[in-house]
Amino acid sequence: MDTWLFLIILAAIFIGWLLGRWQPFRKKSRGVENDQFSARYARGLNYLLEDDSDNAIKIFTDLIEINTETIEIHIALGNLFRSKGEVDRAIKVHQNLLARPNLTRRQRHMAIAELASDYLKAGLLDRAEKLYREMIELDADPIQAYHRLLELYITEKSWQEAVECAKKLYELGEPDAKVTYSQCLCEVAQQAIRSGNYRLARNSLDRAIEIDALCVRAGLLLIQLHLNSDNLPAAKRIFQRLTRESPEYMALYIDPARQIYLNREPRVYQQFLQQQYQRQQSTRLAIALLEHYARNDEIEKARQFLSDILQKSPSFEAFEFALRFLKSNPDQLGETWETLSAFLKTLQGKKSEFVCSRCGYESHTIQWMCPSCRNWAAMKPLKP
Ligand SMILES: [Zn+2]
Repeated sequence: MDTWLFLIILAAIFIGWLLGRWQPFRKKSRGVENDQFSARYARGLNYLLEDDSDNAIKIFTDLIEINTETIEIHIALGNLFRSKGEVDRAIKVHQNLLARPNLTRRQRHMAIAELASDYLKAGLLDRAEKLYREMIELDADPIQAYHRLLELYITEKSWQEAVECAKKLYELGEPDAKVTYSQCLCEVAQQAIRSGNYRLARNSLDRAIEIDALCVRAGLLLIQLHLNSDNLPAAKRIFQRLTRESPEYMALYIDPARQIYLNREPRVYQQFLQQQYQRQQSTRLAIALLEHYARNDEIEKARQFLSDILQKSPSFEAFEFALRFLKSNPDQLGETWETLSAFLKTLQGKKSEFVCSRCGYESHTIQWMCPSCRNWAAMKPLKP
């Protein structure tokens, strides 16, 4: 262990002891006690010199017991261990503290919270969970306890429990709880869809939208559910609402649009892509349109569109050669198509398409919880 760390701790204990001892209005009749203190202090120092820090800690923590006023120094001592990564020691110190009968209510609550943080850092999640539950029962900073519990359940991917915590925080009026609550409900829904429990999925998603009407993720999942059960009108309704209310997520609507319209109303699908491309010249939309034209054997349209893209978007420069080739050899389009679209896809694959509005983290796919700052629904498609 770092020597400096122990020196700081010793100084803290010693100052704490002096403060407790310095009581000018009291008769000085504590000579025996002082001698005992000095002897034990010396023994602790010896252990320290012999590099027996376990025993040293035991002695020094016992010394603090002499004076209940220094319990907060004791808590800080444990925190210091934790922040230095010595979690086992932090746990020992805070556990010792909790075993004492003479703590005030506030001190006990503080010690429980710190011990829970120790467990969390040590990866002893079930013990941390138990202590946070205890904090909630004792009404000891329950909001903080719910926040920590929520983090813990999210880490464990225990989504049902996470939903319970997020719900509590939402009811307590915590900022951001609305988004977290609906995102956790989406997680439950996704899990339910995987295990075939569509009823639970449906209920969770309905609730998610009730809580956060602009939850795009819940909308997208509901579209999938409706498509799976052949409820096309319902899928359409949500699709139209999403494109109207949250147009900034357009990149995520191409797939649902394909599933809803392509086979039944190919004209609507094409119009949709064209309209969106008018508003926003994104590579994804361009690829979808090109693929659509090619599939329908609209070679001339595809060729025109390609040339259009090349004019408007410099990122398609690489296609100039291919286009010149195609202009003089239009019969080759079918053969060249594979190469062209593969090239477009690599171009697309290299690009970050989503950016976190809170911390700037970029990603190729959407992450509903930003892996960098852990904010929910903070990722938005990048402007093309
Ligand atoms: Zn972020």
